[in-house]
Amino acid sequence: MVTLNDLVADQNPPGWRFDNTYSRLPEAFFAPAKPAAVAAPRVVILNHRLAEELGLDLDGISAEAAAALFAGQDLPSGSRPIAQAYAGHQYGGFTMLGDGRAILLGEHRTPSGQLVDIQLKGSGRTQFSRRGDGRAALGPMLREYIISEAMYALGIPTTRSLAVVTTGEAVFRESRLQGAVLTRVAASHIRVGTFEYLAAKQDDANLRVLADYTINRHYPELAESSNRYLEFLRAVMDRQAALIARWQCVGFIHGVMNTDNMAISGETIDYGPCAFMNVYRPETVFSSIDHGGRYAYGNQPAIGQWNLARFAETLLPLLAPEQDAAIALAMEVLGQYPTVFEQYWLSGMGAKLGLQSAEAGDLELIQSLLSWMQKSAADFTNTFRDLSTEKLPTGDRYQAPEFQAWYAQWQQRLGRESLPQALAYAAMRSVNPAVIPRNHRVEEALSAAEDHNDLSVLHRLLAALAKPYEVGADFAAYREPSPDDGNYQTFCGT
Ligand code: AMP
Ligand code: MG
Repeated sequence: MVTLNDLVADQNPPGWRFDNTYSRLPEAFFAPAKPAAVAAPRVVILNHRLAEELGLDLDGISAEAAAALFAGQDLPSGSRPIAQAYAGHQYGGFTMLGDGRAILLGEHRTPSGQLVDIQLKGSGRTQFSRRGDGRAALGPMLREYIISEAMYALGIPTTRSLAVVTTGEAVFRESRLQGAVLTRVAASHIRVGTFEYLAAKQDDANLRVLADYTINRHYPELAESSNRYLEFLRAVMDRQAALIARWQCVGFIHGVMNTDNMAISGETIDYGPCAFMNVYRPETVFSSIDHGGRYAYGNQPAIGQWNLARFAETLLPLLAPEQDAAIALAMEVLGQYPTVFEQYWLSGMGAKLGLQSAEAGDLELIQSLLSWMQKSAADFTNTFRDLSTEKLPTGDRYQAPEFQAWYAQWQQRLGRESLPQALAYAAMRSVNPAVIPRNHRVEEALSAAEDHNDLSVLHRLLAALAKPYEVGADFAAYREPSPDDGNYQTFCGT
């Protein structure tokens, strides 16, 4: 059967197929929005590989047309731009928010049939902008591009970046910066905060509409469950626990795990002051505004549970007619989070040590390595990669008796695995990255792009990050930790 969307697709190079399910939801969920006109849009970077996956033919359009498209000047037919309403707990305090500097163009159907959000970030004011200018600067948008694509290459669920364009206009932060727009691709932009928005309005009818919509979009297998909202809570908890365990296993620090930055789909979203930890230190914080260390590396698992508790609160009216009963059901699910998280974390960390099976002493084995790493200020990424090289790593630090004792114990444990050692080490190299977005490398790429209009540094970095589990001679330099990482600070993308 030929649908209307197929007809639109045919007339719509470079391949857009919009089917905007979110903007067909009740008006309470969003506000119409229009990308601002900008002076002189220019392409900085296009993600051709992602475009191909999305079925978009970017090779078929001129640089001017691509710039106009990704600056929101020339809207793809079939799109219906809106700003989504949401709320959020920011550093623990509740606020009504909404897309203040992002506009959802709509949902695009990929060739494999998946529906993905196409969002412009930095494309001007919306009804939710409050006192903000709705704009974004080039540096933070390229930073999101780099880190999100690195996360994708690491195999961690994440939103993706399709394009960054400059607007030809200045934005004013601490200084005058180049305005830019990022095109973000996401499974959806439904957040814990989206549920909080309707819960704060005590709009139970629309809350149910949102829950049903989200289940249908992200957890369709739950549609027929007997208490589908409770199962929904459990499934979201499971994906969130799995996601945060993945972050912990690569040393990723999100930096601003507010409930408005937690996607119900289970993707990593909203790359602001995020960065990868170098030396293993659980208290590591890079964000300039996170004075209390609320979102420190070691706190991320617990914050995940805190955010899920806020999510569970929004669902209470749907869980049971009596509030006490609803609370008991929600508590039962939330109470499982530590165990669920630990299972994901143990199997992730176990795999980093070549363990496919589980034994009673594995937790202690992992923890004693981590505690040695902390004491000896070892680089998190490089230590695990060094362990993957099939022989006792060289280097002074590895000569320490404490490490040698641990190593002998680990070798014994590896010997009890059924996999031949060579295969165990190969498996380790497929989960322990050699290349991560090192902070000084990210900064170097951003300043070359921002200050010197030189994109070659960025492209080289992206090429290295695209194959994080390989150590090509070309990319060996990307493995070196930042020289003065203790002082590294990241800033919110605002
Ligand atoms: P973020 O820190 O990017 O997660 O943003 C938190 C909230 O502030 C969201 O509601 C954003 O839409 C809003 N926001 C951030 N920057 C701006 C800006 N420059 N103009 C308007 N709203 C903004
Ligand atoms: Mg956000």
